Amino acid sequence: MTISMDFNSKYSLETELLRVEGNQDQFNASSVPIYQSATFKQHSLDEMGKFDYTRSGNPTRTALQVHLAKLMKAKHCFVTSNGMSALDMILKTCKTGSHIVAGDDLYGGSDRLLNLNIANYGFQVSNVDTRDLTAFEAALRPDTALVLVESPTNPLIKICDVHAIVRITREKAKNAVLVMDNTMLSPILCNPLDFGYDIVYESATKFLSGHHDIMGGAIATRSDELAKSVFFNINACGAGLAPFESFLLLRGIKTMGIRVERAQQNAIELAKFLKSKGLFVNFPGLDPDCKSTAVFNSFSRGPGAVMSIVTGNVEFSKIIVESTKLFHISVSFGCVESLISMPAYMSHASIKKDVRDQRGLPEDLIRISVGIENVEDLKSDLENAINIAKLQKL
Ligand code: PLP
Repeated sequence: MTISMDFNSKYSLETELLRVEGNQDQFNASSVPIYQSATFKQHSLDEMGKFDYTRSGNPTRTALQVHLAKLMKAKHCFVTSNGMSALDMILKTCKTGSHIVAGDDLYGGSDRLLNLNIANYGFQVSNVDTRDLTAFEAALRPDTALVLVESPTNPLIKICDVHAIVRITREKAKNAVLVMDNTMLSPILCNPLDFGYDIVYESATKFLSGHHDIMGGAIATRSDELAKSVFFNINACGAGLAPFESFLLLRGIKTMGIRVERAQQNAIELAKFLKSKGLFVNFPGLDPDCKSTAVFNSFSRGPGAVMSIVTGNVEFSKIIVESTKLFHISVSFGCVESLISMPAYMSHASIKKDVRDQRGLPEDLIRISVGIENVEDLKSDLENAINIAKLQKL
């Protein structure tokens, strides 16, 4: 996979990942230093420096934000303590009682946050299957304040037409802020700001950092007005990413290109392998003739490294998950190590069972986040787990 992007740089994205331009260090340090300081001294009572208090701004965080803005093709970028606080800062730009249209297969924590806003601030949320454009259009109102989309969704890997979502929203809800959660693809594969989204956010805990050693969130926009409002919220409640985490995220981003490329290559092979074992595999592009493949290819440069499989039996799925040796049983994804989980019992357990059933989230669903290990090792590990499940279920 070659990563090349059409943004205002003579370099490709692989190269840009390493060109950190926001480093303001006085000694020209090669690696952006960790400015582990809560405050910055003023020159005098009425003469401030560039930074005064880390809740408002910090040189390590600023360097990261400048770097990420470039990679996410944004004018402004803000990094926050995690992906959920990023969404929270975006939702806080909406007034009490706002109407929001959101996907029906959102990450469980996003769903929980929306429900909190319904309870505390009277938000009205319409959840729709965003693949169904008629249902999506019907859910929009002239006063809809925000549209929240994930594509592919987590964990069902539903692919919605992100271009049509923009077109329909602009026609039916002119003032709605279009927001995309791009965590599943990362800027390596997709840049939703290019398609007309107003805000893109990501959990930097996943592919951006890649090693599961930090929590982080990133918010990117080209709008000065939205940036002002998001920054106000971050500064007001102190959700900005800490200096040490900012340093680690800067470091993780440098290897994101090769990490995602290798993990994606492994995922393509594993998806085909699991399909050949008779399992139902949700993975973008697995069926080249499927209509959703063409839609997916219109906005992503590759399928990513996350898939989900349905076995038809909860116990069978549990045995597979617990029998693997190389796949860590973990709630997250986007890590260099391969991970395995059952969303209904883990990442999406915060969604009530009747709502999960109504939204078609099967209890036996297994989510796999493929890492950068040797793919033959991963295949034989999964094959072994499937064989154990078959034996125990006989
Ligand atoms: N968005 C998606 C798609 C996620 O899967 C997650 C977490 O799993 C989040 C956002 C939240 O990110 P964080 O865990 O960093 O708060």
